[in-house]
Amino acid sequence: MSNNNDDINDKKNIEDNKNKKAKSDAICYLCRRPESVAGKMIEIPNHIHICADCMQKTFDVMNSGDNPYMNLIGIPPTMFNINTGPKVDSKKDKGEEKKDNDVAFDHKKLPLPHVIKARLDEYIIGQEHAKKVISVAVYNHYKRISFRAPKDVEIEKSNMLMIGPTGSGKTYLVKTLANLLDVPLAITDATSLTEAGYIGDDVESVISKLLMAAGNDVEKAERGIVFIDEIDKIAKKRNTNSRDVSGESVQQGLLKLLEGSDVEVPVGATSKNAMVPLKTINTENILFICGGAFPDLDKIIKARLNKQSSIGFQADLKDKYDNDANILQKVTLDDLREYGMVPEFLGRLPILFTLEGLTREMLVKVLLEPKNAILKQYKGLLAMDEVELVFDSEALEAIADKALDKKTGARALRAILEESMLDIMYEIPKDDNIGRVIITKDYIEGKGVPLIELRGNLKVKDMANGEE
Ligand code: ADP
Repeated sequence: MSNNNDDINDKKNIEDNKNKKAKSDAICYLCRRPESVAGKMIEIPNHIHICADCMQKTFDVMNSGDNPYMNLIGIPPTMFNINTGPKVDSKKDKGEEKKDNDVAFDHKKLPLPHVIKARLDEYIIGQEHAKKVISVAVYNHYKRISFRAPKDVEIEKSNMLMIGPTGSGKTYLVKTLANLLDVPLAITDATSLTEAGYIGDDVESVISKLLMAAGNDVEKAERGIVFIDEIDKIAKKRNTNSRDVSGESVQQGLLKLLEGSDVEVPVGATSKNAMVPLKTINTENILFICGGAFPDLDKIIKARLNKQSSIGFQADLKDKYDNDANILQKVTLDDLREYGMVPEFLGRLPILFTLEGLTREMLVKVLLEPKNAILKQYKGLLAMDEVELVFDSEALEAIADKALDKKTGARALRAILEESMLDIMYEIPKDDNIGRVIITKDYIEGKGVPLIELRGNLKVKDMANGEE
């Protein structure tokens, strides 16, 4: 019997020793240091040991920034603060961020319409009517967010529909606006949108983009601006028997976003899948601006006007509107409906305005006047080499004419200038004696060379031949 007991004790001792050995040999699963070096280990299932340092590092990573997984499972980041050292700062940062957001929508700091317009004037040439409409609409929109409206008044959202030819400044206007209001902006092309389930982005992807632009801050995104360009491309397709997945269906899909609803969007991606966490965004206070060139809309407007004016005693000439440059400004909702826009969609874009095509004079101003005008940029670059760059007025007009030929509005200007300026930007730094470069019409038209004046005696040099 005693023998039996001894046997059992021996076995127990061996087992205990094994366990002790295992514990003393514990190695951190992450940094591979033994317990004797790394200090006391934490044991997790499957006999995995983790040292205190690695544990803290893991929690720090989880705590740093906005970890969507933590929010998703409802764990507050502060839960992982083992030692309350630098973590306090992250809390403070969040507080500051919130304060910044609040400032942007403090109604006292909300710029008044005339101030918004004046700031837009610094960058955008012409488009007086559009700038005025947009300034008032934006002011009202953010006022609607900042104040509680009286009980008996329901203030409508100021979503906008902007019609204007390519390169007339639609995108630029919205970008400048978002910049000066300091709100996140997402720009999407309507051509990439399709009905959910089909190849292409579904409509909610525009909200994902906004969330991305807001640095995954839901509150900030909910006060942002979404600009949907090329909106005319989702007009109802005519004479089609197949399902219109990129036209009418997209308009239908956008309705609930424009009106205001909760949408679940993936964080850090534009499509939902099992690996991406989701956040819920309310679109009620998001300002939607849609823009498009609406080619051939002028024909619909002309047809309507001609029909009206050819009836009755005051019948006009049939071609009265044929050469009207501002025909787009006469657009009505009926015209847009005929173009293929769904009435419910138009109803959710209550502010409708047009931009004019840029004329030759306006294009010259675009070159010279905006705060970040292309010519100012070139002049600035050469001034750093102590060279003065001068464009004579005929040269400016020649650039504008070339741009007009391309029919892409102000967009063509940069490409034309870059082409002409390449040689100058390449050659001038080579020669320290050059004091001034004069760009002429002949040079822009490829018929001559720019005039080069040397420093001091201001001799004219032929750049092509290097002769004086
Ligand atoms: P779109 O109307 O096709 O959206 P953009 O706004 O993209 O045209 O214009 C292209 C570029 O042309 C802008 O980045 C801007 O530099 C210039 N631009 C266009 N219109 C104007 C304008 N009215 N005033 C100043 N610059 C303009």
